[in-house]
Amino acid sequence: MKKGIHPEMKLITVKCACGAEHQFYSTKENVRIDVCSSCHPFYKGSGAAGAFVDTEGRIEKFKKKYNLD
Ligand SMILES: [Zn+2]
Repeated sequence: MKKGIHPEMKLITVKCACGAEHQFYSTKENVRIDVCSSCHPFYKGSGAAGAFVDTEGRIEKFKKKYNLD
């Protein structure tokens, strides 16, 4: 196993278009979202809500974080 193959996950702060700020883990430092769990109830659903933000598959971790909260 070589280091560097997998992007490093870091805790970032993401600001939603509604003004809410959320923290979650991502490989990207600059992530902006248009909707979040605060302003978009549909987001909490499954399936189609996956389109709300592209975090390279990290959406599942994002969802888990909020489910745990
Ligand atoms: Zn929002």
